[in-house]
Amino acid sequence: MAKHIFVTGGVVSSVGKGITVASIGTLLKARGVNVAVQKLDPYLNVDPGTMSPYQHGEVYVTEDGAETDLDLGHYERFIGVDLSVDANATSGRVYRSVIDKEREGQFLGGTIQVVPHVTDEIKQLIRSCAQRLNADVLITEIGGTVGDIEGQPFIEAIRQIRKDVGRENVLYVHVTYLPHLASTGELKTKPTQHSVRELRSMGIQPDIIVCRSDLPMSDDLRAKIALFCDVPCEAVIPLPTVESIYEVPLVLAEAGAGRLIGKSLGLPERDGDLTVWKDLVSRLRGAEETVSIALVGKYVELEDTYLSVREALKHAALFHNRRLELFWVQSDQLTPDNVETRLAAAQGIVVPGGFGMRGIEGMILAARYARENGIPYFGLCLGMQVLVIELARAMLRTECVNSTEFDPQIEHPVIDLLPEQRSVDRMGGTMRLGSYPCRLTPDSRASCAYGEDLVQERHRHRFEFNNDYRELLRAHGLVFSGLSEDGSLVEIAEIAAHPWMLGCQFHPEFKSRPDRPHPLFRDFVGAAVKTVPPGSQAQLPL
Ligand code: GLN
Repeated sequence: MAKHIFVTGGVVSSVGKGITVASIGTLLKARGVNVAVQKLDPYLNVDPGTMSPYQHGEVYVTEDGAETDLDLGHYERFIGVDLSVDANATSGRVYRSVIDKEREGQFLGGTIQVVPHVTDEIKQLIRSCAQRLNADVLITEIGGTVGDIEGQPFIEAIRQIRKDVGRENVLYVHVTYLPHLASTGELKTKPTQHSVRELRSMGIQPDIIVCRSDLPMSDDLRAKIALFCDVPCEAVIPLPTVESIYEVPLVLAEAGAGRLIGKSLGLPERDGDLTVWKDLVSRLRGAEETVSIALVGKYVELEDTYLSVREALKHAALFHNRRLELFWVQSDQLTPDNVETRLAAAQGIVVPGGFGMRGIEGMILAARYARENGIPYFGLCLGMQVLVIELARAMLRTECVNSTEFDPQIEHPVIDLLPEQRSVDRMGGTMRLGSYPCRLTPDSRASCAYGEDLVQERHRHRFEFNNDYRELLRAHGLVFSGLSEDGSLVEIAEIAAHPWMLGCQFHPEFKSRPDRPHPLFRDFVGAAVKTVPPGSQAQLPL
């Protein structure tokens, strides 16, 4: 039977609860524990697949094609596990399932209530995730903060689990924030005291309190929180803001979190081996030279929108012992007049995934600039479609080339709906999702990067390369270097006569890990490192 760690949040959201969870998982894994992770989100959407990136950030796709919360990306990157659909559930999914059962008559005429029916459904989700992954320890993060109305059934469910499986098998971790008052130079503990009181009023006494703060926390403050919140001093774990998220496992280990969690749950006593993380962090700190990459996307105001892309670029930069200098370019602001100046400093250009037509012409301008100036270009999903549209426009000498997503009547639809998408009329979970095989063309840039013939990559799209244009574009130097197993879908396209210009229909960013950068990201950044951009100091007159 699995042991459980439940992680709740207090005071404010966005303090890095997901990274704390991922880091706790890292510490346990380093101690040889078989750990699984799960996120339960109290909002009513069935999954984040249809939510706006402005509200929810990136949609993270698992191997089995679930559209999930971006925290699952942190879990996979830190812990090195492949998660699946049961690692993320929302109130929407829970209620839908309860209501479906009611319609099927499974409750035999009983009155359906939040307790026990909704809470039972939540507990079942938690149990089945632990069982399927055969975990020694399942860490379950509850989204939002304690006190949110829609979060209450989740808090009640995790309270009941302690009763179901025994006190010694459950640990409650509460992640809070200590605000800093500049006028007095102090960190304040009162909001933490209130949030713990709120949690206690729902029947949960936290065992460990992780305190996020922008400044280091004194021992006195630690003792104060211990006293007011009724936990031992060693169970108040300071987590001051650090330069890189990959330092967090080390900070928690240093504060004794691994030892404490192991002892509290009665796990075998072992010293955790964090060599990989120590090496990673020292290389991150040591990287002095930079590599400058422009990310040309529709959404740039919020960095979470392209979270996995940014992390994958960081991993690749680190491989080349460089620090990533990422600058965001909002594609709908790019014009033929400003594209050269806006992108002048870029050693490489990434066009990430996206939907809808806003900003598309700007992305096409960026692809043209990259192609004509020999700047490395990496197109991810939509970015591959943009590469194809740009090249076809140039080769056919006409602007009447597009994806039917943006212009259904276009004369040259080089990107068109996947056949199985034609009859789709419901939005959620209906794209081509998850892992599919991709066969690589020998001697292409893609096959050299992977060093393999057949790879599996994760997808999330409705449109594809239109095969009516394959011969034409091949004749103009486009290499179809990755195809679906039956050869019918273009998965990777690259321009042979360019230092590095490649697009893939899948999302390689989801499979990059800090110590194992994705081969395509690695080689793209490798090409960027060698590129002297037109706007660099090196080329400016003395
Ligand atoms: N909108 C495009 C499609 O549906 C690209 C999707 C994406 O970039 N994830 O095919």
